[in-house]
Formats: sequence, C-alpha cells, structure tokens
Amino acid sequence: MNGVLLVISGPSGAGKSSLIKELLSSVPDSIFSISTTTRGVRAGEKEGVNYYYVSKEEFEEGIKQEIFLEWAKVHENYYGTSLRPIVEFLKEGKVVILDIDVQGHKIAMEKFHKFITSVFVTTSSHTILKQRLIDRKTDSKEIIEKRLNSAVLEMAHMNDYDYIIINDDFKEATKEIVSIASVAKNRTKKLDLEKFISKWLES
Ligand code: 5GP
Repeated sequence: MNGVLLVISGPSGAGKSSLIKELLSSVPDSIFSISTTTRGVRAGEKEGVNYYYVSKEEFEEGIKQEIFLEWAKVHENYYGTSLRPIVEFLKEGKVVILDIDVQGHKIAMEKFHKFITSVFVTTSSHTILKQRLIDRKTDSKEIIEKRLNSAVLEMAHMNDYDYIIINDDFKEATKEIVSIASVAKNRTKKLDLEKFISKWLES
C-alpha cells in the first residue's frame, strides 16, 4: 500500500472543511474520506459528498458488521470511517484526507499508524472560535455551547498530533497544510524496507 492518510482534527469552527477544500484542489492524488453519520444534513451539504447520512439503527448494524476502521460518538451523533474504501485508496497510492475527531484519531493510530500524518487545526483563542461558530449561522445557541465545551476537551489532545495549524489567517493556514500534505508521501515509516532495498539494489 503506497498511499498515506492525512488525519485532520480540531474543534468545529476552526476551519477544517475550508482547508480540506483547498487541499483537494491543490494536492495531486488527494481524496476525501467520506464518513458515515447519524447527524442530520446541514444546509449546503450533500449525501455522498460531505457524508453518508444513515439512521442510528443502520449505523449500529454497521458497527456489528465491523465495517468501520474507526467510529465515535461526537456531539451525541455517531460518526465513522469505513474501512474498505480506505484500504482501496491506500492501494491506489492516494493522499487520503480524513476529517475525524480526537477519539477517531486514537483508534486509527492503533491500526494504521504507519500511514498516518496528523494535523490539529485550531484558532489562537476561544473568542475567535466562538465568533466563527456564531457567524456560521448553522447551529443554535445551545449547540454552539456544546461545541465550545468539546473544543476544550479536544484541545487537550493536541500533543498527540504531528502538526498544529493555528487557522487565524486562512491563506497562511492553507499554505501550511498544503506543505504538510505534500511531504506526507515521503514518510519513511510506511516503507516496506526489504522490498525497497531489494528494488534499489536491482536498479
Ligand atoms: P460535524 O458535525 O461538524 O460535521 O462534525 C463533528 C465532528 O465529527 C468533527 O470534529 C469531525 O472531525 C468529526 N467527524 C466527522 N467524521 C468523523 C468520523 O468518521 N469519525 C470520527 N471519529 N469523527 C468524525
């Protein structure tokens, strides 16, 4: 498997989705891992583009059938990454972008650490994050409070990531994440050393 996984986590409102859009348009062979979720469709989102939207029962059946590489409950909804497409993308040599939470990152690391480069995206302050969530106009006051509370919990896991991006200046943050994605393929940890060296010796 020659591809790599670029795991992106961070509080809601930190700008992960916009950064991912930039990555997909500028990093060759990049592809977004579309998660499955039980949360409702937000305005502007599309089935099979942002997520696969399923019922709680369908998701729980998926857990039973062990179709997920990882899954987690975030803000009272289920979210999961299907294993099969990830393996296919890795075989195809893709830079697979996963937008998953800190719990998902931890589980993915248990099985796929060799392939993972991880980035934590946040803002420089709680105030900026709160303002972004308010400006986004997608969530009620209560939901915004919940998201801000989980932001604090997520920030406590920042050290588990390879890189941190402070997304106050979008242009700067885009440059940084594109650089990280561009070198992710050069990780040595994913190499099958024996194969690499014997090919190197033969050529
Ligand atoms: P949102 O509802 O704002 O799209 O996502 C809420 C949170 O769920 C975000 O932190 C996002 O990274 C996380 N998330 C989205 N998909 C997955 C997934 O497949 N697995 C896990 N563990 N978290 C996910």
